[in-house]
Amino acid sequence: MTKPKLFVFSAPSGAGKTTILKELLKTFPELKYSVSATTRKKRPGEIDGVDYHFLTEEEFKKKIENNEFIEWEKFYDYYYGTLKNAVEDNLANGYNTIFEVDVKGALNIKKFFPDAVLIFIVPPDIEALKQRLLNRKTETEDDIKKRIERAEMELGYRDKFDYVVENSDLVRAIEEVKKIMSSL
Ligand code: 5GP
Repeated sequence: MTKPKLFVFSAPSGAGKTTILKELLKTFPELKYSVSATTRKKRPGEIDGVDYHFLTEEEFKKKIENNEFIEWEKFYDYYYGTLKNAVEDNLANGYNTIFEVDVKGALNIKKFFPDAVLIFIVPPDIEALKQRLLNRKTETEDDIKKRIERAEMELGYRDKFDYVVENSDLVRAIEEVKKIMSSL
């Protein structure tokens, strides 16, 4: 059996990364998603244990104390973290694993797993990103403002990634990511 591979995706909020990931999970059956934990509220359509493990702040802090995270971050007043057991189960079963975390989380996962491949999805420009966030209508105006500021900060990390894929055309971006993953 070849060694399971780890692919870490980061992208500013609204860059289209969730759509790309869903497509990849359909294409590669041996690929499993590492379900993160979060304290933010569920969005319509999200499922506990599938999109995230939705935890209370108390539950999350308990897991920090128990050293159950590979990495965690707090932003927009909410906690987000990668659980060790989500990854260990996948690796033990020989599955490749895909992570979707913020830029700092990606760099921390690389420290934990040096072979992890970091892929950054970038929007064509910040205006396009604002438009996507506004169209999505899942966040408040204040949340959108924070996410745009954060996106500007995150874009500064692009050089630290192994691959950068621009998402100006979703179909093309998906094809490019698939090509990268198949070549490794
Ligand atoms: P959202 O609330 O839109 O689902 O996610 C907000 C941000 O949290 C995104 O940048 C997403 O990649 C990041 N995120 C989700 N899960 C994790 C995680 O486990 N660790 C870290 N560091 N960031 C995460």
